[in-house]
Amino acid sequence: MPSRVAAAPKQAESFYQSREWRVLCAEIKRERGKACERCGSTDRVIADHIIERKDGGADLDKRNVELLCHRHHAEKTAAARAARAKGV
Ligand SMILES: [Zn+2]
Repeated sequence: MPSRVAAAPKQAESFYQSREWRVLCAEIKRERGKACERCGSTDRVIADHIIERKDGGADLDKRNVELLCHRHHAEKTAAARAARAKGV
């Protein structure tokens, strides 16, 4: 087995596969409706942390979770990564 493949962030993966997170996502989608909270799109909507876990955001607090369409999730992820790289 190639060992370098295992260098991926294991912890983050297991969190997003956890029962607690899935249950929370299902609840939020049921409560808010399965649509992007920024534009209302229903394109591949996923629940996402507003403040990412690695930036100290709360894991299972609904107030730290928003529903984003595919496009807004991609934008948000890129912006968070850029901000982190700059150390802001
Ligand atoms: Zn959107």
